[in-house]
Amino acid sequence: MDKYITVIGLEIHAELLTKTKIFCGCAAGFGGGRNSRCCPICLGMPGTLPLLNKTAVEYAVRAGLALGCEINKFSVFDRKNYFYPDLPKSYQISQLYYPIVGRGEIPIEVNGVGKRIRINHIHLEEDAGKLIHDEVSGMTLADYNRCGIPLIEIVSEPDMRSAEDAMAYVEQISLLLKYAGVCDCKMEQGSLRCDVNISVMKQGSKRFGTRTEIKNINSVKNVGRAIRYEERRQIRLLESGGRVIQETRRYDAAADVTRSMRSKEDADDYRYFPEPDIMHVYISDEQLEAIRAELPEMPDARLARYTNICKLSKADALIFVKDKALSDLFDDVLASYNSPASVASFILTEFLRRVNLGELDINSMAFTAEQLGALVRLSNNEKISKNDAKEVFRIMAEKGGDPEQIAEQNGYIITVDMQRVEAEIGRILSENVSQVQQYRNGEKKVLGFIMGQCTKALRGAATPALIKTVLENKLNENAGSDGQTQS
Ligand SMILES: [Zn+2]
Repeated sequence: MDKYITVIGLEIHAELLTKTKIFCGCAAGFGGGRNSRCCPICLGMPGTLPLLNKTAVEYAVRAGLALGCEINKFSVFDRKNYFYPDLPKSYQISQLYYPIVGRGEIPIEVNGVGKRIRINHIHLEEDAGKLIHDEVSGMTLADYNRCGIPLIEIVSEPDMRSAEDAMAYVEQISLLLKYAGVCDCKMEQGSLRCDVNISVMKQGSKRFGTRTEIKNINSVKNVGRAIRYEERRQIRLLESGGRVIQETRRYDAAADVTRSMRSKEDADDYRYFPEPDIMHVYISDEQLEAIRAELPEMPDARLARYTNICKLSKADALIFVKDKALSDLFDDVLASYNSPASVASFILTEFLRRVNLGELDINSMAFTAEQLGALVRLSNNEKISKNDAKEVFRIMAEKGGDPEQIAEQNGYIITVDMQRVEAEIGRILSENVSQVQQYRNGEKKVLGFIMGQCTKALRGAATPALIKTVLENKLNENAGSDGQTQS
């Protein structure tokens, strides 16, 4: 069999997080009662006039800046004509000839190798409604709540060569859009959707093969699976003497196959023409600079801050940076207790352990970042032991509450009582004469055993560090004598 090269380009649709839709005042959220957020404008009733949402334009520009693209100061909306039941006005307002964002480049990393994927452009458009197929048997229902939600479509160049490239690209775009605060990128809810253009060609060939387009893939994992299936299908077809036809396919995740939907349309089929109801968009230098100034800290800058200023290891810093919610939490905790090493260590171990156990959801926590900071401080200052800190955290995760109060109620606060410390340690030494002798004879490893006895007896009365100091003093002060211990 000849060796084939797979060529992949992606179109990513991202819903913008504006409060209202792109051309009317209807709310633009997810969920809610069917057809509860529609009006004559987003339903495309004859005689209505759309009005462009300024925030949608700003968010599209912000997305372009976050993805390292050129911003086009002049852009125009076009009417894309087609009939589909989820599009009641029979056209979609989109941008074809003068999109709002121009070329750019995204760095990705696959198996430790860096690569750059070029972006052709990003255009702004309105989303269509949603068809619901299986709820009532034999019927398809239409929900137009999604009609008119602002979307950006990010069109890449065909620079990806494998499922891994494509998955890394989607993840990187999703991360950057989340940091920019313009899209929540919840693929399972459809706020980020992916169309894959894919073709194969024989190694050494100068011309790309005929491509197919796989529509609306709803998870990163399925992007990878759909690509792997489709490249196998196309190669098998070519090897058996057939040819690939240009068409739109859909990925059936349950069966792990792609199926033909319709032959592929070209731009000509849509009879694009300039949208007469929307004015051209001009963005001034001042507006552009204002949007740039509002761009939040992006992943690269955050990674540099974590490694250079917070002194985290690169591996730890990356765990935070790649999960924006976790990283935001880390920053929020630092704002109340600026001890990066101990805060990071607590979040990466105890916090994530409870998340992984399903006992904690970062999006709905019963405690505040400040309270988490207070807990790490209590433990760091040895007001409570490390073990008790975990127990206090378990209670906070379950019911919320102030860590100091929880520690007090449960008797975890360490109050130093020197008399008791001296007495208890003396008693334990006198009960373990042979171990004490071993220690004094140079077998320092028995210290751990004696230390264990002392910590147990003095729970809540002294910090481990204090116990260790007193214990070592006692052990050393009589070293070289006849082995008797003070009591
Ligand atoms: Zn509306």
